[in-house]
Amino acid sequence: MPVSGRRKSIAFFITLGACLVALAIALNVGWILLNPREVALLVFGIVFFLLLITGLVLNTTFLIREIRRNEQHDAFINAVTHELKTPLTSIRLYLETLKKRDLTDNQRQEFYDVMLADSDRLLQTVEQVLRAGRSGQRRRNINLRKIDIGELVHECVGLARLRYNLSPDAVSFAESLNGERPQVKADADELRAAISNLLDNAVKYSVKEVEVSVEVALLDDKKVAVRIQDRGIGIPAGQLKRIFKRFYRVPGRVMGRIKGTGLGLFIVRSVIEKHGGRVFAESEGLGHGSRFTIQLPRV
Ligand code: ADP
Repeated sequence: MPVSGRRKSIAFFITLGACLVALAIALNVGWILLNPREVALLVFGIVFFLLLITGLVLNTTFLIREIRRNEQHDAFINAVTHELKTPLTSIRLYLETLKKRDLTDNQRQEFYDVMLADSDRLLQTVEQVLRAGRSGQRRRNINLRKIDIGELVHECVGLARLRYNLSPDAVSFAESLNGERPQVKADADELRAAISNLLDNAVKYSVKEVEVSVEVALLDDKKVAVRIQDRGIGIPAGQLKRIFKRFYRVPGRVMGRIKGTGLGLFIVRSVIEKHGGRVFAESEGLGHGSRFTIQLPRV
């Protein structure tokens, strides 16, 4: 259904719900006025109407929530299709050129590199979707081991610099660990995926200049924190919690231009909660950058 059609159906259901609630209240008041002396009927009527009104409100809320969820699913399918189609189209174009034209060795190498980067992008999207599917399952075996959290985050920072071709100044890394090497009990692959998702977002939503700082710090003897701060587009206060929901993307003009599936932060939250930790976002608002903090129990 197109967006305007959906808006209309939401408006219709809200109006219908409101009218039915108003009607129920009017009938209820009428009932009370008609039966002021018959106590049993009055009590029965009031309880019955209250139940009716509650049901109507619940029903309308449910319907609207379902319409919104449907809307998010559509946006997700569009985003994933785009993420799959763009690199595939590019690979196809390069293959056709390789087949049709005589190219120098250098040009060939260049084409191979672009195709490799495109297939990496494809693989990343597929992995993200699979990981989100797995994250949705409640019971999952995770392979827990003791891990040096500073080392793991440092490794992710290195990978992000490599992937986006960024200098150590653009993505800085620091440890405030008082000379200790805190360990966490974690599935290294899952934790790496979560931290990499946060780093990818920090770079992706930086828009102009990338200035990301990553810090691993001791909170107390029981907890360790990983903070990822960027100076990007920022997040409005009302959205700081919602962004962790599956398929959720902050609406807006700038956001429309930055591609994504709305799965990254959902994966981050699922992974961190499975490890007994928590993750939250802070931002001074649009245009003022964002800071994501992961807190994990130490072993
Ligand atoms: P995606 O990036 O694929 O849209 P995510 O689940 O990773 O999905 O993020 C959800 C939303 O949270 C994004 O669409 C974006 O609006 C917002 N967001 C996430 N990270 C940042 C960030 N570092 N700066 C600004 N907005 C962010």
